[in-house]
Amino acid sequence: MARDTSYTVDASRLHGVLDQPLFVAAAKVAERMGVKAYTIGGYVRDLLLGKPCKDIDIVCEADGIAYAQAVAQELNAGHVHVFKNFGTAMFMLGDVQVEFVGARKESYSRNSRKPEVVPGTIRDDQERRDFTINALAIPLNAEDRGQLVDPFYGVHDLERGIIRTPLAPDITFSDDPLRMLRAIRFATQLGFFIDAPTFEAIQRNAERLDIISAERIHTELNKIIGAPVPSIGFKLLLDSGLLVRFFPEMVDLLGAEEKFGIGHKDNFYHTIQVLDNVAKHSDDLWLRWAAVLHDIAKPRTKRFEQGRGWTFHGHEDKGARMVPGIFRRMKLPLDEQMRFVKKLVALHLRPIALTKEEVTDSAVRRLLFDAGDDIDALMILCKADITSKNEARKKRYLANYELVLEKLKEVEEKDRVRNFQPPITGEDIMGAFNIPPCKAIGDIKTVIKDAILDGRIHNDRAAAWPLMLEEGKKLGLTVVNGMEGPGSSS
Ligand code: ATP
Ligand code: MG
Repeated sequence: MARDTSYTVDASRLHGVLDQPLFVAAAKVAERMGVKAYTIGGYVRDLLLGKPCKDIDIVCEADGIAYAQAVAQELNAGHVHVFKNFGTAMFMLGDVQVEFVGARKESYSRNSRKPEVVPGTIRDDQERRDFTINALAIPLNAEDRGQLVDPFYGVHDLERGIIRTPLAPDITFSDDPLRMLRAIRFATQLGFFIDAPTFEAIQRNAERLDIISAERIHTELNKIIGAPVPSIGFKLLLDSGLLVRFFPEMVDLLGAEEKFGIGHKDNFYHTIQVLDNVAKHSDDLWLRWAAVLHDIAKPRTKRFEQGRGWTFHGHEDKGARMVPGIFRRMKLPLDEQMRFVKKLVALHLRPIALTKEEVTDSAVRRLLFDAGDDIDALMILCKADITSKNEARKKRYLANYELVLEKLKEVEEKDRVRNFQPPITGEDIMGAFNIPPCKAIGDIKTVIKDAILDGRIHNDRAAAWPLMLEEGKKLGLTVVNGMEGPGSSS
């Protein structure tokens, strides 16, 4: 497993941290109110790892809301947002989000994530955290200021790179099944190993994920997709039995069938490899999503054809058509981002197809025209998609890919079709033939566009005008104004 070695655990990073104004104020208020307060959770974990963290959690063994308000006042901080139902309060300090909660014991009912909350000690609070590495607390009060409270050996797990629940994992996961996804998310982000008993409990409790909302699931999934090596997460999601609960289309990609000694590649492992490849070149979440979905329709288009072997004809179009349904079910955005993913899935074979034959200007122009400003993203996806195990073939594809890239640059400089604006407008056509809006106008525009993309005429008005007149005549129209007007020449 690819452990993210850019982070190392170092306790000396705790020195001086409590001197910052927030903690000084929090300590002062805690002393005054006679309560015990701690900073806890992700902030402490990231501090030890030397990872930047923009949210700070503070727990007190008292009413968290009242304490938050007193600390905010001490700091002259802005508005305190109170979430009465959760017993939490939050305010911003510059760009840092500070969240307060009273230490509590919790027990969850089986069918929802809504806990029954009873006030508790710091130890109770640590027990109900998801993982040992997320349960570390630093006392703020003078008596034990800065002395890490680590009842579950979280520092040890942080050093060894282990995800483990503080309590028996079946209890932790059954109380809040979202934690199963969080385990895989942290394992992916940090390159950590999920302790065997914890992982086995995820496998046992996987069905419980069904009570978790689509939004919470996609939040974790997006963090997995956004990690440096997202395939780690997808393998764990698959092996744990979680993936099939919310993303069955992806599980369908699994497996390599063989007929008459002819196999095809396992599209699940291919997909996550493509995703890793994209992740090396782009942090764009939606480009990464396009990688996840690029072959999603392969199982539905798979055929064994006599003499040709396995084919997946039309999987790019069918896959593009599957995108909205998947996004809707996962409650992912349905606007611009979804359209981008859909478009990339639809076009993902185009550059590859180009690399298999002679790269003509006209094919390149059409690709530029169809991809528009998304051409760069498409080319990243396309290169990432070259995963052949046959080194010679891979080399050939990559060489051809470079050729396509070069051609793209050359053609774009020459013909500017990336954001194609037709050199002849509908008004031009109506004026030239004195006709009202009608089908002929669209037909003529298509002929002109094709002529430009095929390289038969230049992408300009002077070249397009005579072609328009000629096409109109073919359609039986009479030229009333044959002169090329000022128009929208580019
Ligand atoms: P990140 O901020 O990178 O998402 P984080 O660990 O800080 O990671 P948050 O959602 O900010 O996660 O939560 C802060 C802390 O709250 C966690 O470190 C953990 O101690 C606790 N926590 C969050 N969600 C849960 C949960 N579902 N079950 C138990 N504890 C949780
Ligand atoms: Mg956090």
